[in-house]
Amino acid sequence: MDILAQYQQVKNTLPSNVKLVAVSKFHPVEKIQAVYEGGQRIFGESRAQELCNKTSLLPSDIEWHFIGHLQTNKIKHVIPHVSLIHGVDTFHLLAEIDKESGKANKVTRCLLQMHIAQEETKFGLSEQELYNLLASDSFRQMKHVQVCGLMGMASNTDNMDKVRNEFRGLKQLFDKTKKQFFAETPSFCELSMGMSHDYTIAIEEGSTMVRIGTSIFGEREY
Ligand SMILES: *Cc1c(COP(=O)(O)O)cnc(C)c1O
Repeated sequence: MDILAQYQQVKNTLPSNVKLVAVSKFHPVEKIQAVYEGGQRIFGESRAQELCNKTSLLPSDIEWHFIGHLQTNKIKHVIPHVSLIHGVDTFHLLAEIDKESGKANKVTRCLLQMHIAQEETKFGLSEQELYNLLASDSFRQMKHVQVCGLMGMASNTDNMDKVRNEFRGLKQLFDKTKKQFFAETPSFCELSMGMSHDYTIAIEEGSTMVRIGTSIFGEREY
């Protein structure tokens, strides 16, 4: 298996305005280094300890994204290393990221994760929770987080009409949120949706950032 060829193949299918997050969780640094040498600079990890280990072993111009479910006790470990946190799914988590970023004298870029799949197991905010959060005084007082957009995961199903509908709904929500809360904020511009099995649909529906692991690195060994 030639990882570099797989990387190039994925890369070639992406429009130039769509950013690629190469999801390297569970893959060794040698594989990441190979994709890095192919030109990739954004990598996504989902576990704090793994992220911290890898950042110390790999080139410093890599932009690390945290894409998993972040536990509050891990925030302070992750903050020095990340340029974007994708999965912020509660007010409490955002407030804690703000607090820890303040201590680190940093502004941390975040995406709010929306619940778009019908499966119970998926994390994310409801539309109402999103509006409540963005309209609150406590959100406006946060000085150390920058909300750069929304993120979502579609249902894990072969029914691609369903997947498309979920992505379409998220794009509509993004547009509405932009208009209502971030009309004067150019940095609110990212819509992170699409993984190996559904990213072409996500792009058709307006994704600006796809998170692709398996199609680049192969199957993960847990
Ligand atoms: C693991 C993961 C991905 C990558 O999934 P693949 O199917 O391997 O492309 C994308 N997004 C999130 C949030 C993940 O946890």
